[in-house]
Amino acid sequence: MAVVDTEALILRTYNLAEADKIVVCLTRAAGLVRGVAKGCRKLRNRFGASLEPFTLTHLTYYERENQELVSIRQTEILKSNFNLSSDPVVVTGLAYLGDLLIEFSPPHQTNELLFRMSAACLDAIGQSPNDLQSILRYFEVWLLKIEGFMPDLKMCANCHRAFTSEEVVFMSTDLTLRCHECSNGRGGSVSKGLHAHLRTTERLSPGKFAEGAREVPNRTKRELAELTHQMIGRVLERLPRVKPTFTH
Ligand SMILES: [Zn+2]
Repeated sequence: MAVVDTEALILRTYNLAEADKIVVCLTRAAGLVRGVAKGCRKLRNRFGASLEPFTLTHLTYYERENQELVSIRQTEILKSNFNLSSDPVVVTGLAYLGDLLIEFSPPHQTNELLFRMSAACLDAIGQSPNDLQSILRYFEVWLLKIEGFMPDLKMCANCHRAFTSEEVVFMSTDLTLRCHECSNGRGGSVSKGLHAHLRTTERLSPGKFAEGAREVPNRTKRELAELTHQMIGRVLERLPRVKPTFTH
């Protein structure tokens, strides 16, 4: 039996028996982890409060070889994010973020960048709940990128020519970007505005991206949402272990 000590973002919980819960969380040390927390539903229990969805928690858990469910023993709240739970729109957005993490992350696979990016997005939503939609777009783009599905935004996948800021590019069904000549204008077009907006995700934090997005035309934001949702839909169809359960 191994003991693991790690930071974790609680994503979802299910009640189990009378006083227990199954907790699904994204941990810094071991990626997506499912665990049982015994006794955490007893009245006014600090253990239970630290396992509310979207709490950033320090967890200690025990794992046994060949068992997917770990046993959560000790917790300490690092950041509760409880203030966000009063706004149903934000709660829906956070649940969507959690669902995507559960769909995309293979269990027990460490991914430091994914953990930090997710925690940063959650922080940004906490600081500026009105920017929820932009931060969710940022999260989707980075999730796709970290999991290896985001195409190279700088050059044509076929002729390797660097895109200029003046051209419309095209996304083919294999989720790569091509110039007009190479694609013959086929595939989903990515407008100049969208391409530029998309590229700002590469160099900005989620909060700064969302701040900049306030000046971006709604048309471009809609285009970005359509693009990420299309890509996520295609990726989830391809992943054999999951089926899409999210809505938007
Ligand atoms: Zn080309």
